[in-house]
Amino acid sequence: MSSSQNHITFWNGNKMPVVGLGTWQSSKEEIQKAVNAALEAGYRHIDTAYNYLNEDAIGEVLQQWIQSGKVKREELFIVTKLPMIGNRPEDVEKFLRKSLSALRLDYIDLYLIHAPIGLIGKHDQDVFPHDEQGFAMIDMHTNLVELWKSMEKQVDAGLVKSIGVSNFNEEQIKRIINNSRIKPANVQVEMHVQFQQKSLREFCQKHGLTICAYAPFASPGRNEFYSKLGLKPPVVIPDLFQHPVIVKIANKHKKSSAQILIKYLTELGVSVIPKSVSSERIRSNIQIFDFTLSPVDMAQLQELDLGEMGFTFEFSSFFKGMDKHPENPFPHRAPKN
Ligand code: NAP
Repeated sequence: MSSSQNHITFWNGNKMPVVGLGTWQSSKEEIQKAVNAALEAGYRHIDTAYNYLNEDAIGEVLQQWIQSGKVKREELFIVTKLPMIGNRPEDVEKFLRKSLSALRLDYIDLYLIHAPIGLIGKHDQDVFPHDEQGFAMIDMHTNLVELWKSMEKQVDAGLVKSIGVSNFNEEQIKRIINNSRIKPANVQVEMHVQFQQKSLREFCQKHGLTICAYAPFASPGRNEFYSKLGLKPPVVIPDLFQHPVIVKIANKHKKSSAQILIKYLTELGVSVIPKSVSSERIRSNIQIFDFTLSPVDMAQLQELDLGEMGFTFEFSSFFKGMDKHPENPFPHRAPKN
């Protein structure tokens, strides 16, 4: 697919805009300003999650836009995710309804299982439960096939249009496909120029699944996130905006590094969800449809791939002890810092 198209199409015919707004780590005030700026700039795809604890603020803005007639519900593409504390078949509908209520919607366009590992929260807001020693409260009984059957029921009930998974490995996705009545439509994973997910892209293409790239800039805001938790980032977070190859291509096209990073991913046929709370950056991050990357640009960007070594999301330092979970998706990804 070329990024002159502004949608990718799921196997079920539903269309996902290729650029969406990421909303992780945004306060209520920031996110309301950001969602307004994004809708003004033409975004129609918003990526959120129960875990981000800001769906309610987003819902207020969506409601204002829909009620005022500035946008129709069917023009929006809203993604949210089942939290890890809800990774049990009997909890899916409860958490989905909480998200629907917070977002003030009667259906979700794409509902994802946020991660394959189940956690045991003390209450429904306890999204990253830890014990006194700092170990994640993992639920050793996560059953992904049974969980998926419960996701399918939400499609049957009309509460979601499409379902998918996030942070699953290929074996886990294959297990879901082999045991599904309704195949996943989309897989959301970390993907950027240094972590191009070639194997997963081939796997998804073979099975008729689409991909959404999270952390398209390698998520530089996490330095602050880790320091607020008193932690050192487990993996060095690269400054892709200053990478000489990206700067050179950006200068040639009179575009920003961010625009090159987003454009490249869309040229690989995936959708992309850059996060920003700056109105100016939100506007510029979607201005990627008025230029083309040449075959030489594409080849130079392709060469920046570090393969499996390019990941920057390493969860076990944050979810201490999660490597003990039988569904830990990426046991080989260890801290690099
Ligand atoms: P990201 O989009 O790679 O990077 C966001 C950071 O880049 C922010 O610090 C932002 O700062 C900055 N930024 C944005 N546009 C910029 C520009 N044009 N120039 C310079 N800096 C810019 O990282 P992310 O937020 O981790 O990932 C994107 C979204 O993916 C998330 O928000 C979330 O919706 C989703 N996600 C999903 C998962 C999952 O497990 N499924 C995991 C991580 C993320 P400002 O805000 O100050 O502009």
